[in-house]
Amino acid sequence: MKIENQIMAYCPYCNKHTLHKVSVFAKSAPRGQAWHTLLHNRKITGYVGSVSPKQHPKKLGKRQVLLLQCTVCKKTVQRSLFGRSKKKVEVKR
Ligand SMILES: [Zn+2]
Repeated sequence: MKIENQIMAYCPYCNKHTLHKVSVFAKSAPRGQAWHTLLHNRKITGYVGSVSPKQHPKKLGKRQVLLLQCTVCKKTVQRSLFGRSKKKVEVKR
């Protein structure tokens, strides 16, 4: 699915619709010192081998998140296009 590289969207900082630059949000690598990672590591100390994780239901698709940068105030806002979907979002050149 392709979207335009510049769209008119609402900017909460300017409090009106302005032109926004569009890019796709890329998730960074998980932090090794995050709070719940530390809790999990503390919990499994003493166990040898793999500890079976909790069974979670499988989610169908991912949320496609866009980064919208306002051309007036240069602030960036995250915006989800739709719910969970298997479509991938690309920005037109
Ligand atoms: Zn703005």
